[in-house]
Amino acid sequence: MAPTSDGSPHASPPAEGTSFEDLPLHEKLKKGVQEIGYRVPTPIQRGTIPHAVSGRDIVGTAQTGTGKTAAFLLPVLERLLEEPRGRILALILTPTRELALQADGFLRKLAGHTHLRGAPVYGGVGMADQERALHGGAEIIIATPGRLLDHIGRGYVDLRSLRILVLDEADRMLDMGFLPDVRRILGHLPRERQTMLFSATMPPEVAALSRQFLREPKFIQVEERTVAAVGVTHLALPVPSQLKLELLLHLLQDETMTSVLVFARTKHRANTVVRQLEGHGFSTGVLHGNRSQSQRVRALEAFRAGRHRVLVATDIAARGIDVKDVSHVVNYDVPHEPEAYVHRVGRTARAQKRGDAFTLVSREEEADFARIERLIGMTIPRVRVPDFPYDAPSRPPPGPATAARRPPSPERRRGPPRSARRGFR
Ligand code: AMP
Repeated sequence: MAPTSDGSPHASPPAEGTSFEDLPLHEKLKKGVQEIGYRVPTPIQRGTIPHAVSGRDIVGTAQTGTGKTAAFLLPVLERLLEEPRGRILALILTPTRELALQADGFLRKLAGHTHLRGAPVYGGVGMADQERALHGGAEIIIATPGRLLDHIGRGYVDLRSLRILVLDEADRMLDMGFLPDVRRILGHLPRERQTMLFSATMPPEVAALSRQFLREPKFIQVEERTVAAVGVTHLALPVPSQLKLELLLHLLQDETMTSVLVFARTKHRANTVVRQLEGHGFSTGVLHGNRSQSQRVRALEAFRAGRHRVLVATDIAARGIDVKDVSHVVNYDVPHEPEAYVHRVGRTARAQKRGDAFTLVSREEEADFARIERLIGMTIPRVRVPDFPYDAPSRPPPGPATAARRPPSPERRRGPPRSARRGFR
């Protein structure tokens, strides 16, 4: 944490030792906090919650991993407890589907004892469910800017009752080119509202945005590291083990998953995953102990150069490998050793300082996964992937004589054709 002097506009959070009991939150929310497993508020929470609950605008400088999501969700919930239901009262804008899903996962838990409902809204999935949520099914919308604008363009999104706007990861929205969309959305919102802006860094464009759209904000700044890589969005995707492959294929439809490191528990499982992915047209390399040194080097080079979109690895083979620009880590299997999780996800935040980590968790792996959460001191939200047919029987694998044996065409090497892939923003 970086305490700042009283003379600066940046407030440092109150001293450690503050507990959730000391924060101005309703018992219903404290119950949610307890159930999600948070014992002590993090610095960004201690700093933000009292001011945000009193209605102040907030500029929070904090990265993923500091507890910033609950730092804005809890005051949002507190302030909306007494509001009439059935209309959109708060909007949380996030740059990626992963962050939207993560915030939605936390919201479900934290709001568990309230009547308030949230809905994630992002691209790449059908519009109909989201339209229903936007029509009065949810009070808190967690949206990526592009998809929200699509809905707004269709004329049924009523934002007139909106009380609170949260801009999450504003610097990442800038990096991804979303600030014009954010400004357009701001044009649709009532002027009389509370606005909170969170950003890991404060580039001039973000500072300008906050000067233009926030009123006398309280500045809260924390620099805090957690055990697991800072900047990583962690999601747990509960799934029956026999559907893991289907789910991985489903996830890979997302074109923002540009370079994906997949971890499997054994060589055998790694080989199976590779065969299946190749059979479905994804160019895939493999790293495990049965591969010769030169095979490993070649696989790594192909991944680094972007010729393989996916690299499947076992933990031992992946030790010490250095790959920049890994967009996603997918834990196909939960590691037995909790420390392995930290090594694995550390790969994604390296170069870009941010990335996403999905863990496919079967019922049998829940206990191992809980050990990981204890080690890294985080509750990782469980998320159901919308549009994934959890109840459908699993597809038979493609026969070895068909797709997998054919030499890959250029499109096949890069994954499915662009038109078949789906963006999630
Ligand atoms: P965030 O920075 O919001 O992405 O949160 C990072 C991680 O910290 C998430 O897994 C949260 O569940 C967890 N977390 C947030 N607040 C607390 C807290 N007060 N105590 C323990 N873990 C927390």
